[in-house]
Amino acid sequence: MANLKLQLLTELLKILPEAGIIQDEETLRPYECDGLSIYTEMPLMVVLPDSVEQVQKIIRLCSRLETPIVPRGAGTGLSAGAMPHREGVVVSLAKFNRILSIDADARQARVQPGVRNLAISEAAQEYGLYYAPDPSSQIACSIGGNVAENSGGVHCLKYGLTVHNILALEVVTAEGDILRIGNQGYDSCGFDLLSLYIGSEGLLGIVTEITVKLLPVPETTKVVMATFDRVEKAGDAVKQIIAEGIIPAGLEMMDRLAINAAEDFVHAGYPRDTAAMLLCEIDGMAEEVDEHIARVSAVFNKEKAGCIRVAADENERQRLWKGRKAAFPAIGRISPDYYCMDGTIPRSQLTKVLTTIQSLSDIYQLRVANVFHAGDGNLHPLILFDANVAGELEKTEEFGGKILELCVDAGGCITGEHGVGVEKLLQMPYQFDPASLEQFQRVKLACDPQRILNPGKGIPQLKHCQEYRSLSQASVGRHADK
Ligand SMILES: Cc1cc2nc3c(=O)[nH]c(=O)nc-3n(C[C@H](O)[C@H](O)[C@H](O)COP(=O)(O)OP(=O)(O)OC[C@H]3O[C@@H](n4cnc5c(N)ncnc54)[C@H](O)[C@@H]3O)c2cc1C
Repeated sequence: MANLKLQLLTELLKILPEAGIIQDEETLRPYECDGLSIYTEMPLMVVLPDSVEQVQKIIRLCSRLETPIVPRGAGTGLSAGAMPHREGVVVSLAKFNRILSIDADARQARVQPGVRNLAISEAAQEYGLYYAPDPSSQIACSIGGNVAENSGGVHCLKYGLTVHNILALEVVTAEGDILRIGNQGYDSCGFDLLSLYIGSEGLLGIVTEITVKLLPVPETTKVVMATFDRVEKAGDAVKQIIAEGIIPAGLEMMDRLAINAAEDFVHAGYPRDTAAMLLCEIDGMAEEVDEHIARVSAVFNKEKAGCIRVAADENERQRLWKGRKAAFPAIGRISPDYYCMDGTIPRSQLTKVLTTIQSLSDIYQLRVANVFHAGDGNLHPLILFDANVAGELEKTEEFGGKILELCVDAGGCITGEHGVGVEKLLQMPYQFDPASLEQFQRVKLACDPQRILNPGKGIPQLKHCQEYRSLSQASVGRHADK
């Protein structure tokens, strides 16, 4: 290993200035994990290229030395996708932080992958435009990471996920070649490589440039908050709003624990004594917004909401959203550790799945706070635990696995937006049959025959399937015997 490290360093110094290579333990430490800090690994080194040519040369060098590469954006991922490889190099895209151009007429922007999600909307603001997908981490996460994870956010119910808002990508392949995919048209011939690369978790190439769609800032935006004495009523209200033919810009749910933690943290003005709360945002032309807010309020009334409040002004609207966006760190204040799950279910199953999660919480004796994108059925149960208590982490992981299986059983899937990474490898055989997993491996091998790009992430290996089978002997999963 020492020889490999020395050889790598000697060759890397021909590609990058010394300042672009991190190799001492203390400076490497912040890179040992992403936002899911229960998984850690130290890399051989971290490199910070600032040109596409440097990325190409790094990939070619790693390919020659058969050294794993882990691409990294801002490191806010929640599935250990950017966790380093012990014998590999982390390629940080932090220096790719420029907005290259904004074409206001065509409503699009060309950006480098290290640009923060929120920075795109901030730059587009002067043209009355914005970039719609808005992960709660948007102040920090990079657009390259969003592409790799196919990230979602509050506004994805109406405006789609990352995949629906990207026009083109420039990617450096595992061989170090440049691939340009996507175009300005509505359709294109050939395989849809754009969809393949978006959500590929750094397994198929390193994204070096992104063309995003920009949308006009809506004329009017209003939010209505409603509280419910039972989670079931809130779940029914979500179903009813969509059944009415209304597509809110955002439709979010928080339960009692999340509401109170957020209220203590940012004083959003949420009523505390309630089982569940919905925040429903409507945007568009002023008259249409008023009409939809009235119809949504009528649904809330019908579902016997306790308090229904339309934010009186922009300040109050921002304050209501501040509580929702601060919910994760707010939970961090009331528990030594928490584990954020990410599964998707059909809206019709909300009540049933939330009730089962509560029963599991009782069985495992671990508290759960729910704060999630209710409109698109993307759940984020936060399991509260203390890693310093012997066995509690393992219990939490088992409980988390059960929640993901519950999502699959309800007709959903094991990730809504955070990706598979390392975290959900064991649940992949529950979601997919062996033939599908085999196809994933074939696609990976076709794009990366040496498996040097982010190995050990995203696609389960045989050992995961075997481990899964032995784990599921007691409660046989969907594909355990196939
Ligand atoms: C408090 C909090 C709230 C969050 N809320 C949301 C939310 O609402 N919605 C949501 O979707 N996610 C959310 N996340 C998760 C996370 O922010 C997203 O997954 C985000 O897209 C990760 O971006 P990043 O730049 O931090 O990527 P990283 O964590 O650095 O990397 C993520 C993955 O992308 C790969 N990657 C990064 N850059 C590139 C590149 N240029 N080319 C190829 N592969 C690359 C990495 O190898 C890794 O597999 C949240 C996280 C936190 C901590």
